[in-house]
Amino acid sequence: MSLIQTDKVVLIHYTLRNDEGEELDSSAGGEPLPYLQGHGNIVPGLERALDGKAVGFKDIIVVAAEEAYGELDGTDPQGVPRDAFPEELELEEGMQFVVENDLGEQIPVWVIGIEGDEILLDTNHPLAGEELHFEIEVVGVRDATAEELQHGHPHGVGGDEGHHHDH
Ligand code: ZN
Repeated sequence: MSLIQTDKVVLIHYTLRNDEGEELDSSAGGEPLPYLQGHGNIVPGLERALDGKAVGFKDIIVVAAEEAYGELDGTDPQGVPRDAFPEELELEEGMQFVVENDLGEQIPVWVIGIEGDEILLDTNHPLAGEELHFEIEVVGVRDATAEELQHGHPHGVGGDEGHHHDH
C-alpha cells in the first residue's frame, strides 16, 4: 500500500471548519480534492499531518494559524478607488491580486469588500489568524505523472484530465 510522501498525488475528502465550528468549505457530495504532497498545494500544517498516512486514514486535524494562512499582519484594509483597476476587470469579494509595493516587492492582496466606488483590499488572507479544523478522509494515493511533477500540482483525480490554463 502506498503511503503519502513527497511527489505523491493524494485524494482527500475534507470539511473545513473554523474555531467556532462554522463550516467554511467541504468536498462532501462531490469529487475528492487531489493535491501533490510536498509542493505547498495545501496549508503546511495539514500537509505535515498527512505525511506517512495511507488510504483509509480519517481524522480531524487542527492546524494553528501560523501553520495555515498565517497570523494577522496587523495592517488595516485599505480602500482603493474602483478606477484604479482595469475597467473590464470584474471585481468580486475574495479575489486575489499581487501588487507591487514601493520597495518593488510582490505583495498578495485580497478583495474583502466593495463599497460603491471603493474597493477594500487586505494584505491578510481571509483566513489569516484562524485556527482551522480539517475533517479529513484519505481516499486515494497514487504516483504523480511527469507533467504533474513539472507543474507542481495534480491534473485531476486520475491525472489524465488534460491540461488547464490557470497557471
Ligand atoms: Zn498544470
